[in-house]
Amino acid sequence: MKRALLFIAIIFSGLAAGRAQVPAPAKDQALPPISYVCPMTGDEDVIEDKAGRCRKCGMELKPIRLDSVWTCPVHAAVIKDKPGACPIDGRELVQVTMSVSWTCASTNIESMNPGKCADGSPMVKKFTPRAHGNHNPQHGGLFFMAPDNWHHLEGTYRDGGMFRMYLYDDFTKPLARDQVRLMSGRIITKSGASIPLVPVQNGRYLEAKIGKLPFPAEMAAKLKFKSTSPENHFDFTFPEYSKEPVAPVTTTAATPSAKQPPSAPTVANSASSASPAVASLPPPPAATTSSSGVDPGLIPLPIPDSVPEMLAQLSQRTEQIRRFIDQGQFASVYVPAFQAKDLALALDERKDELRPEHLKIAAPAIKRLVRSAWLLDAFGDLGNKQQISDAYTEFAAAVKDVESVFPGSK
Ligand SMILES: [Zn+2]
Ligand SMILES: [Zn+2]
Repeated sequence: MKRALLFIAIIFSGLAAGRAQVPAPAKDQALPPISYVCPMTGDEDVIEDKAGRCRKCGMELKPIRLDSVWTCPVHAAVIKDKPGACPIDGRELVQVTMSVSWTCASTNIESMNPGKCADGSPMVKKFTPRAHGNHNPQHGGLFFMAPDNWHHLEGTYRDGGMFRMYLYDDFTKPLARDQVRLMSGRIITKSGASIPLVPVQNGRYLEAKIGKLPFPAEMAAKLKFKSTSPENHFDFTFPEYSKEPVAPVTTTAATPSAKQPPSAPTVANSASSASPAVASLPPPPAATTSSSGVDPGLIPLPIPDSVPEMLAQLSQRTEQIRRFIDQGQFASVYVPAFQAKDLALALDERKDELRPEHLKIAAPAIKRLVRSAWLLDAFGDLGNKQQISDAYTEFAAAVKDVESVFPGSK
């Protein structure tokens, strides 16, 4: 998923392991930890592990349980607890972040914890998709979020040299065709050619005839959602032609067939769903599985105990961020960026060991490092190379200052 929200879910599951055990009903040991989120639309990326106020708007954060679940790329109603094939179309499931609650049939009761309903029956587990909970490309392309925090888009570069752009809303649902038809834009290639980006007849996507470019193929999209709205800028770097994911061809009986109905999918947002199968999900899969689509090299490492080790990791992460930016893999930048932020916060706890003249440099440098790590995350989603490069410059300078004053670095 290459997504911030997933990443946070990984972090939280890591945290949960080291946290004092909250007494939980014996039957459901695997309650996802409580997170605190901002109720304001557009602040879905604010997810903290303690109560308090939103760092963006100041509103009071609300407790919620977030979980990583698996869903069909184009059938969001299907929710599974582990990777596999979509029972409807056979495509590989993608990992998304949803909130988890427990409800009773035909009531509005919604609880953060499992329990009993008034009639004595057990409450039913319910998953609710979250805005920005799914940043997975659906057509094998590169996925970005628009600066308006609502539109999402995916660019693909197909064999033959055709660029296609698919448009989505904040829940990654494809936009209605009449909305897509209002859009206009152009693709600028590295050589400076400007090719119109126009909605195709049926309004399912926009298209620009680029022609064949050498790989990695770099191009920028300039897109207006309406003729009156501002032009948004997105930088795409395609390492190869995009391939539409297809259902794997299998010969086993595991694929849905007429004889065997697909195993009952859990229906999101359905309070009336009383399927007992949902009530006891096993713990989420280890985030390290390669099938999760997450590069195992990106899985968060525990924060080391010694300052030199922290600095070594910080330097590795900095290098990783630079590499992702160079390759145009903006959507992956948040992983090392968040790790670097966690390392910076760990170093912050050790800054009292510094001499006063070093502390004077370290304290503001750590703040800048944390801030620029957030920016790298935010700009990585937006896919604007200039913004993300600027954030990296600030980040790298802060890292250098931190390295210059903590003992044990080069
Ligand atoms: Zn907020
Ligand atoms: Zn989003």
